[in-house]
Amino acid sequence: MKVIVTGGSGFVGRRLQLIRPDWIYLSSKDLDLLDADGVVSYFSKEKPDAVVHLAAKVGGIKDNAEHPADFFYQNAKMNINVVDACRAVGVPRLLASLSTCAFPNVLPMYPYDESALLEGPPAETNLAYGYTKRLMWVHINSLRKQFGLDYSCFSPSNLYGPEDNFDLETSHFVAAAIRKLHESTNTVEFWGTGKPLRQQLYVDDLCRAIPMLLDRHHTCDPVIVAPNENLSIEEMVNAVSTIINKDLIIKYTGELDGQYRKDGDNAKFLELCPEFKFTSFTDGIVKTYEWYEKSTYNRN
Ligand code: NAP
Repeated sequence: MKVIVTGGSGFVGRRLQLIRPDWIYLSSKDLDLLDADGVVSYFSKEKPDAVVHLAAKVGGIKDNAEHPADFFYQNAKMNINVVDACRAVGVPRLLASLSTCAFPNVLPMYPYDESALLEGPPAETNLAYGYTKRLMWVHINSLRKQFGLDYSCFSPSNLYGPEDNFDLETSHFVAAAIRKLHESTNTVEFWGTGKPLRQQLYVDDLCRAIPMLLDRHHTCDPVIVAPNENLSIEEMVNAVSTIINKDLIIKYTGELDGQYRKDGDNAKFLELCPEFKFTSFTDGIVKTYEWYEKSTYNRN
């Protein structure tokens, strides 16, 4: 089966290459997904059996807050171009990545499941990014309904792992915590109270899940791929600090907590992949920190 992966040079794409080296990985230098005609002509020349669409403009809270128009335009356009090119060229199978960031900011019940996707607006901090993921879900399911195409989506929770972005300006929480704790010599301060709960998915778990979903996920559900563990910020900081093994004073500012919890239910994913075992947060941090210590990559 000839599988083309967009976003092949990104965090997930680079790790997926280790698991499925037989697939074809594209960066923006190989194919600019903002160029609709270019995407159609590339897919019609290559005739893939399947496209795994990972490419996106991805960023942390600050980047999303400062450049919402860029996040909206680039993600909406890229997603429409890729999904519509698959339809136009007759690619038989498409699996595209949404994100749990597309789910509503506030819900009456946690963990929420896939049916909650449109039950309220995404968090204000990533409204533009979240809506473009919702648009893609609607686009894909419209194609399923109108043309019977075998196109589907999955929704990973926050990711961390080797090759993550450790730039403090743009990184996500776990990478930032590893870097802050690694570089500190005495006192480290984190925002908030440390009490909010978060699911953090080890990147290689997602990369093991993607080929399984490509084989097994054939419905319109935006299947949630998230670990069982839903740890507090404080538990995660303590776990990272234990692994880094430094005698540090950890403080919390007590402000800017964000949502208390936002966990998604992985029951549907485990129904599709009952044999799947998630990497524990501790084991994931051990592997991530081993990699971090050896590398200077992504550390501006
Ligand atoms: P990433 O590291 O930022 O990589 C983004 C990828 O998209 C890169 O390969 C980039 O290519 C490509 N891309 C961006 N603009 C492009 C364009 N105009 N044309 C072609 N390619 C373009 O992102 P990631 O963390 O791997 O995320 C992969 C997927 O997982 C995304 O769909 C994201 O929404 C989803 N996701 C990520 C997280 C997370 O915590 N990281 C959580 C949930 C869901 P270049 O390298 O050439 O720029």
